[in-house]
Amino acid sequence: MINSTINEPKKEYNREMHTAEHILNQTMIRMFGTGRSVTNHIEKKKSKCDYRFDRALSEEEIRLLEGKVNEIIGQSLDVKESFVSREEAGLKYNVSKLPEDAGDVIRVISVGNYDHCPCIGQHVSNTSEIGGIAIISSDFNNETNILRIRYRIA
Ligand SMILES: [Zn+2]
Repeated sequence: MINSTINEPKKEYNREMHTAEHILNQTMIRMFGTGRSVTNHIEKKKSKCDYRFDRALSEEEIRLLEGKVNEIIGQSLDVKESFVSREEAGLKYNVSKLPEDAGDVIRVISVGNYDHCPCIGQHVSNTSEIGGIAIISSDFNNETNILRIRYRIA
């Protein structure tokens, strides 16, 4: 087996999945007013993202969410990086997940004009490379107020 993991942060890490996560996060913000996912597990076969929320989503809402994410993916948006000062990033973006030692120059990933988020991960260069996603399931834990969404690349 060829060792091609040098540039991959994690063995199962997947650029398509991770870029889809950016789009899913922004869609959750726009449709349901959540923040970005508080925790996530991005893997090649199946990924999950957890959002702070106050209820479960209905099957209809899940299909609307999936449809919106796929509509954005289908727009063949360029995924670009830019750099801003930490101060500017703190004013414009959610930097709660940035490590303290991320430095004074922060990398921001933009998915077209749809989503802008500081991120150190690896991404596709155009959303057309993702193809689309399918939401497999979701559930809501009313003790932790966490809504979990599981998806795969479709
Ligand atoms: Zn990213």
